[in-house]
Amino acid sequence: MDKKSGLSMEKVIVIDFGGQYNQLVARRVRECNVYCEIYSYKTDIDQIKAMNPKGIILTGGPNSCYEENSPSYSRELFELGIPVLGLCYGAQLMMLLLGGKVEKASLREYGKTEVHVDRTSPLFSNVEETTVCWMSHNDYISRLAQGFSVIAHTADCPVAAAQCLEQDLYAIQFHPEVLHTVEGTKMLYNFVRGVCGCAGTWRIDSFVEESVRQIREKVGDGKVLLALSGGVDSSVAAGLLSRAIGRQLTCVFVDHGLLRKNEGDEVETVFGPDGDFDLNFIRVNAQERYYSKLAGVTEPEKKRKIIGEEFIRVFEEEAKKIGAVDFLAQGTIYPDVVESGLGGESAVIKSHHNVGGLPDYVDFKEIIEPLRDLFKDEVRKAGLELGIPEKLVYRQPFPGPGLGIRIIGEVTAEKVRIVQDADAIYREEIAKAGLDRSTGQYFAALTNMRSVGVMGDERTYDYAIALRAVNTVDFMTAECAEIPFAVLQTVMSRIINEVRGVNRVLYDLTSKPPGTIEFE
Ligand code: GLN
Repeated sequence: MDKKSGLSMEKVIVIDFGGQYNQLVARRVRECNVYCEIYSYKTDIDQIKAMNPKGIILTGGPNSCYEENSPSYSRELFELGIPVLGLCYGAQLMMLLLGGKVEKASLREYGKTEVHVDRTSPLFSNVEETTVCWMSHNDYISRLAQGFSVIAHTADCPVAAAQCLEQDLYAIQFHPEVLHTVEGTKMLYNFVRGVCGCAGTWRIDSFVEESVRQIREKVGDGKVLLALSGGVDSSVAAGLLSRAIGRQLTCVFVDHGLLRKNEGDEVETVFGPDGDFDLNFIRVNAQERYYSKLAGVTEPEKKRKIIGEEFIRVFEEEAKKIGAVDFLAQGTIYPDVVESGLGGESAVIKSHHNVGGLPDYVDFKEIIEPLRDLFKDEVRKAGLELGIPEKLVYRQPFPGPGLGIRIIGEVTAEKVRIVQDADAIYREEIAKAGLDRSTGQYFAALTNMRSVGVMGDERTYDYAIALRAVNTVDFMTAECAEIPFAVLQTVMSRIINEVRGVNRVLYDLTSKPPGTIEFE
């Protein structure tokens, strides 16, 4: 995206000191309808000044600010006349740089903690006098810098928050960005909308409008090529580009035969010639090609590699038919940008996770990533705004290699059919039971196990389907979801009755760790 035109847009800058929750800080600020970007603490102060932020937030971090070589910042940051809010490490660093003192506490505070706040502080207006916050620190502010006064404390922490009203500087020892801090969003709202005076004009509809304008300006009458996977990100990118440049956009949708039941057709219904979007849509039915490449392959990593590489080959072949294009579009989103450590400015060339690498032989001049400033929930909102069906926008995360890694062992067309049918039944029954929104991620997988059964008085020797359902907040850890037994039984009997080749249904109880969410 063109950052220059964003100069006039009100924004808050988050300076990242390595805290676990830095992305959350930015998300919460955006929930207050204020645009926000994250930059490393290594970012030069002149660069920060040039962005003309309405406010600056310093994040937490693992270090102790009084130690040598700990991340620091130029003191000048506090003299720019721009309000600054320090969180945890950021709070401690602010105090240290301005002449206060930070020391190791005798008692480390961790977890939900009651905090008593001074409600006359602009940071705490409308906040309860005693409120619950999330603490995670070893160090504490033992002496305030000049001009500061205490505005919150806990039983163990004398300075849970401090302010210097004259200079609009605020320091909070706890983490308002995490949900355990009950009134945390209110505090961040008070800072960005109150102290910083942001009007709160960042909205997803204005994002869509503004990016359409920027895409048109950048693309001109050039041609754009996009690999559509059917996933949320590439679909929303397609919708956005279509609105901006219509038929200058060509989407190549590779159906690798490892999608869930009817999914290929659903993508075609939305983006194909009979859909609502103005674009060139090319569907490549590469099922047979994939199955023959995968024949006899059982090793999970090898399967993943074949699926990823084949995707690129198929995509390249299509791209060659189209000829030179000006831009290759990708559905990169903001967490991808932040996680690659290049917060914001520099052009990251990172392939969409479903593509598994950047094609070597596609003839394009530049990459265009229209979603690179958005968080996932914002991508979804943009999708709805663009008229992409809810079903697609709220799709469950689906791995790039698709059903290929939900079939243990060799992949065959027959096994794909079995797992597709079983999975469709499972999803249908979960929805019927009203559990589809409350259950995190759920799917059927095909184990490579065959066992003996009896059906209609006849011996069977068929596959076992494994049902999985997990709840996860961050996909790093997950717990088995408690699907009611009656629902599981209905699913079991339907699968056995309706899906030929299955005579046993198992429920996977494993959490992550030690298991992974997927099977391979
Ligand atoms: N490392 C600092 C401390 O222990 C800051 C911790 C944090 O930012 N969460 O106090």
